[in-house]
Amino acid sequence: MAITLAACAPTSSNAIVPAASTSPPARPGSTASPTATPSESPTPTATPTPEETIPSVEETPQPEQTPPPEPAPTEPVNTFNKAAMSIDDPASLWVVSNKLRPLNPVDWTPPDIINVPVASQNPPRMRQVAGDALVAMFQTSVAEGAGEMQVQSAWRAYDVQVRVYNGWVARLGQAQADAQSARPGFSEHQTGLSVDISPVPLTCALDACFGATAQGQWLAANAWRFGYLLRYPADKTPVTGYTYEPWHFRYIGTDLAAEMHNTGVTTLEGFFGLPAAPDYAG
Ligand SMILES: [Zn+2]
Repeated sequence: MAITLAACAPTSSNAIVPAASTSPPARPGSTASPTATPSESPTPTATPTPEETIPSVEETPQPEQTPPPEPAPTEPVNTFNKAAMSIDDPASLWVVSNKLRPLNPVDWTPPDIINVPVASQNPPRMRQVAGDALVAMFQTSVAEGAGEMQVQSAWRAYDVQVRVYNGWVARLGQAQADAQSARPGFSEHQTGLSVDISPVPLTCALDACFGATAQGQWLAANAWRFGYLLRYPADKTPVTGYTYEPWHFRYIGTDLAAEMHNTGVTTLEGFFGLPAAPDYAG
């Protein structure tokens, strides 16, 4: 308190001091303060010469800087073409398969199925492009410290899905079978573009806890880099018709995967403006 008051007191008494602070320009002389004004006139005359030299140099670059701004405005425009590939053709990497969109024809078989050289519980077969991307993704997971992975299930042919689904219906009835297995023609696995993944050593196989494993977390964050999509997110069951499946990934190509990643859209239904498919039509 005492310090504050002391600081104020001297200021009021030394009203002349502040004037001195503005008097720096008056350095020339306490007696020459008025003289300083006239002395400034001669100074500018000498200044113009150097100034003229500078602008002449600046004039050249200025016109060059004008053109660049023109192409800039076109960069922010999103040029992604959502119609570049079919979402109906089962052979398209963008085909959308859900409980309201059976493959057409229903027994469609991919033409380029290969054996995928990765660890697995069952020898995995997928379409060439999806298999190649899967190999790269598994190798990168190890390289980046997320650990080894293996395939639980990949391509399933129509007739295989018929046997699997009918087996569930016989044991549990159709209602419960629909909750555990896709109907023939409605499974993404029939496209040859989907794969179920587990860690090595095997744990949390086809279980929601896979999402908490190092492999599951790495896939959720990085699968898009390889063209894969976590197809059934935890918060999108009403849209996809499937509960959270952190192990099920669908190949959609790197262009679409990157676009969905960058725009934050997590389902194919949402990205392409398709109706939600919570259940079969009948
Ligand atoms: Zn699956």
